[in-house]
Amino acid sequence: MASQAQLIDGKVIAEKIRQEARDILARVRAEGRNVHVAVVSASDDPASRMYVARQCADFAAAGIDAAVRELPGGATEAEVIDAVEGLNRDGGVTGIVLALPLPGGIDVRRVQERIRPSKDIEGVHPQNLGMTALGRQRAGPSTAQAVIEAIDATGIDVCGKEAVIVGRSQIVGKPVALMLIERRVTVTVCHTATRDLAGHTRRAEILVAAAGRPEVITGDMIREGAVVIDVGINRVTRPDGARRTVGDVEFEAARARAGWITPVPGGVGPVTVAVLLRSAVSAALAADR
Ligand code: NDP
Repeated sequence: MASQAQLIDGKVIAEKIRQEARDILARVRAEGRNVHVAVVSASDDPASRMYVARQCADFAAAGIDAAVRELPGGATEAEVIDAVEGLNRDGGVTGIVLALPLPGGIDVRRVQERIRPSKDIEGVHPQNLGMTALGRQRAGPSTAQAVIEAIDATGIDVCGKEAVIVGRSQIVGKPVALMLIERRVTVTVCHTATRDLAGHTRRAEILVAAAGRPEVITGDMIREGAVVIDVGINRVTRPDGARRTVGDVEFEAARARAGWITPVPGGVGPVTVAVLLRSAVSAALAADR
């Protein structure tokens, strides 16, 4: 029987990070201070609203105050920026999350640029991304940090290894590349213009799949023994009509070749949630008194 990759259990990693968050929260409270996160939402879409409500419930379950600063689905860019700047000025607010999507016509980056960097717990402000590029990370994007946590959980020394990242987005591919370069990993970043994707992925000792394309990484694209981190979350309908969530990696086939692999769901997803909680309490601890 072919050997199977070891599973990287996102729930176990998430629990470790949640404990770190609890410890930081205790220090914040010991100083007589509080953590308060404001989630700016401007969407009438029921799925987005549900997501925001769940995010607030996650914060609350971790003992973090969170409230939605709700704007109408037709809000303008100026109105969203006004709301963000009000929260920047509000001394009681220690962290700001900008829920996406924003109404059509709003330039998300322009809004992100207006979040005070010290309150940007999602790590989307250019200054925080710049700090990541300089290797002086404050709050890096949660998903990218979660990828690094998942790699670290294997206990493998990554220095000098070959990593291939599929996807070059602002919140995943690029920051993961920067974080791995900082650890002296040899990094290749692939995207839709990449020629011979499989030629790259087959070289990868560490493969990070963040393309948002269901099972685009097939088993034969995996190097024997690789660490495979699947960031993708894709809802698909199977031929039998059943709806399922799958990653960007063809899981069973990849598992037969990889050394380590994250499942979907239960891999990077829960780690990302935990990282955001930790970033929220860390921002409060670092906040000006
Ligand atoms: P984006 O759509 O912003 O970026 C996708 C990237 O993948 C782009 O750079 C794109 O290339 C590249 N790409 C797409 N298709 C291919 C392909 N066939 N071959 C090679 N490259 C390809 O996605 P995100 O980074 O926001 O998210 C990626 C995935 O991660 C999604 O499934 C998303 O749901 C999931 N996600 C999961 C999170 C978690 O907590 N687990 C959190 C955030 C996202 P190009 O630039 O050329 O267009």
